[in-house]
Amino acid sequence: MEREIFVSQLIKWYRHNGRDLPWRNTTDPYKIWLSEIILQQTRIVQGLPYYFKFLDTFPTIKDLAEAEEQQVLRLWQGLGYYSRARNLHACSRQVVSEYNGEFPSTYEELLKLKGVGKYTASAIASFAFDQNKAVVDGNVFRVLSRVFGIEDDIAEAKTFKVFESLADDLVRGKNAAAFNQGIMDFGAIQCTPKSPSCGLCPFSETCVAFNTGRQNHLPVKSKKVKVKERHFAYLIFEYKEQLLLKERGAKDIWQGLNDFPLIESKQSTSEDEVLGELKMEGLIHLDTSEMHKHVLTHQRIFAKFFRFKVNDSANFAKLQNHYGARPYDMDQIESLPKPILIENYWKQSIL
Ligand code: SF4
Repeated sequence: MEREIFVSQLIKWYRHNGRDLPWRNTTDPYKIWLSEIILQQTRIVQGLPYYFKFLDTFPTIKDLAEAEEQQVLRLWQGLGYYSRARNLHACSRQVVSEYNGEFPSTYEELLKLKGVGKYTASAIASFAFDQNKAVVDGNVFRVLSRVFGIEDDIAEAKTFKVFESLADDLVRGKNAAAFNQGIMDFGAIQCTPKSPSCGLCPFSETCVAFNTGRQNHLPVKSKKVKVKERHFAYLIFEYKEQLLLKERGAKDIWQGLNDFPLIESKQSTSEDEVLGELKMEGLIHLDTSEMHKHVLTHQRIFAKFFRFKVNDSANFAKLQNHYGARPYDMDQIESLPKPILIENYWKQSIL
């Protein structure tokens, strides 16, 4: 298909069918950046309330930079992929300290910002600064591979360049902002992964995938994502209206969030095994929860919560030391940033 025609038809389609999203009616790089970080690995309907919450709490990048990390994580709670929140915060500080509170305007400079990858840099450069830089993501892989019949395996790192150079060529000297928004919406609404609406598509006459019946084969993706199973036995120690929680460390999921002390194992731990590990005078087992299943992209977590009453302060102190945890009142726990697995349990249980 003629590239020129593809671009103009896509922009025309976007003018008629594009989604009206709040960050599209602005060229403010702060709002655009915020929306892009929130929407990485998050559906729009889920991300929208967070976008408004963040703008409400931090109307400017300076406000965000001055906030405590724990406040940012708390506001982010429920969105998952918490490294995004930490990077968001670090990036705001970087923009304030290194760029005097103004986002840089070029793709290359934007790439130097913490947590800003190629996609986000392209989005900010084109939407906020009208630069001719194309976005490349799953939608772009899908639409371009189908329309132009590209067979390169998108699981291979080198394939990114194939799509990036085609997409950059498409937007060269054109309206990159409209093209970028258009291809994202087109991929999300029309050329969907399963059951694309080919009958109503402006490209149906020339689309390679449609005309060769290969919509389900394009884009080509070979690798399968491995999903790891993890089993958590959470230990809830209660002493005089206080519970022990600990901040999660680096190199694992949920860094910087707070959860209860836990025993992790490769297989589900029985109640007897957990109680056997906790041989301590003055510890009263109150109850054990049902299994809670929590699904992440590369991990499936099975968690049970074991509640104990501790009847003396010396034992409570021993448990703190042993698990590297801290005691918190119920009110404090409410405002701590926690993984959604813990938050849901917390809400369900009358502790
Ligand atoms: S014809 Fe079908 S596969 Fe081709 S671009 Fe349109 S919706 Fe996608």
